[in-house]
Amino acid sequence: MSPGQASGAEAWLRASGLARVDALALLRELAGIGHAMLLAHPDAPLAPATLRRLQRAAARLRDGEPLAYVLGWREFHGLRLRVAPAVLVPRPETELLVDFALAHLPPRDGARVLDLGTGSGAVAIAIAAERANARVHGVDASADALRIARGNARRLLSRARAGGAPRWHLGDWMQALPESARDFDLIVSNPPYVAARDPHLAALRHEPRLALVGARAADDGLGEIRELVAQAAPRLRPGGWLALEHGYDQARAVRALLRRAGLTGVHTLRDLAGIGRVSAGRAPSR
Ligand code: GLN
Repeated sequence: MSPGQASGAEAWLRASGLARVDALALLRELAGIGHAMLLAHPDAPLAPATLRRLQRAAARLRDGEPLAYVLGWREFHGLRLRVAPAVLVPRPETELLVDFALAHLPPRDGARVLDLGTGSGAVAIAIAAERANARVHGVDASADALRIARGNARRLLSRARAGGAPRWHLGDWMQALPESARDFDLIVSNPPYVAARDPHLAALRHEPRLALVGARAADDGLGEIRELVAQAAPRLRPGGWLALEHGYDQARAVRALLRRAGLTGVHTLRDLAGIGRVSAGRAPSR
């Protein structure tokens, strides 16, 4: 049976050629048929319009497009973020960066947080959602990304939060901000860090190259991180932390860059897979 002739939900799922978990997500999100319902009613009929929507979505997944783009959203740190091909799909390992931020942000009102390369706003908004009194800024080099981040912040954050709405800035790392913005308690970033010739880029082809490789492509993937660390370290308040996500084989090099920028307490955190994934250092206290 071809998918076009599928009669019921389970038959469609089997004929879809998708991993079961992906087909279940499409049935749940596009047809309103959850897993329990599918088990109870495998022959649940699919209306022609629903079937067409399922077929279009399945074709995009078979072409390698991330499920998050097909559905238009992705869950991150308990938030349902809207995503589109203008932004990187938030990854679960990036929640480590948020957890580091929440553990190291001073509790006082107005503590200043900056997310460099914010994309969908995932990291900035997750911090803002947990710390209502923090003042959060996000920078991105893509105006399309900032539109998505702003929309996510409006949908997901309380209008009444004490720290106000996050401020979004378009530009190249710290150059997006005025010279006077230099007393951050915390600067976080999930920057582009994929090496220019990394074979994994083929599998990531639906995501923005600017978010993966950046504009300073380098064979070691550190082109943007070198620039970012040099620009960001001097803008920390004494005692403030800079924390970056990086690739599985970049921890040692990133720690060296953080030390060279004058930061102390430099260390790396492992993700749930045991991979050194986030490195951080702090500006010396005066
Ligand atoms: N972690 C992403 C990957 O799948 C890369 C994200 C990034 O470059 N910031 O390789």
